[in-house]
Amino acid sequence: MTEKNHTEQEWKEKLTPEQFDICRNKGTERPFTGEYNDCKKQGIYQCICCGSTLFDSKSKYDSGSGWPSFWRAITSDNINQVTDGSHSMKRTEVTCKSCDAHLGHVFEDGPQPTGLRYCINSASLKLKENS
Ligand code: FE
Repeated sequence: MTEKNHTEQEWKEKLTPEQFDICRNKGTERPFTGEYNDCKKQGIYQCICCGSTLFDSKSKYDSGSGWPSFWRAITSDNINQVTDGSHSMKRTEVTCKSCDAHLGHVFEDGPQPTGLRYCINSASLKLKENS
């Protein structure tokens, strides 16, 4: 069975209440509060729900937004980008392709070479530090 097939109850048991709210109910952590906002450690950021490889610390930068920000995903094969019209804004939601976890949003005001800013909730991520 794939991670995608977890029931709501199973996700509740697997995740903390905050992780569940953000990843499974598209919540947003308060800015400047997340574990990885200021994190400068080197490694690979994985999906907290399923472990899928999402972002490399090498593409993390300080956007000043209060959320971990990356100028690219490790591979577009592991994420989905979905138009999100909630809260009267037109945004592009980023989700984990393997388990559908809500990760955050992507904006077009990031640094070169991509010009993208993946604005991601710490609660959706797990850093696997380089050894
Ligand atoms: Fe996932």
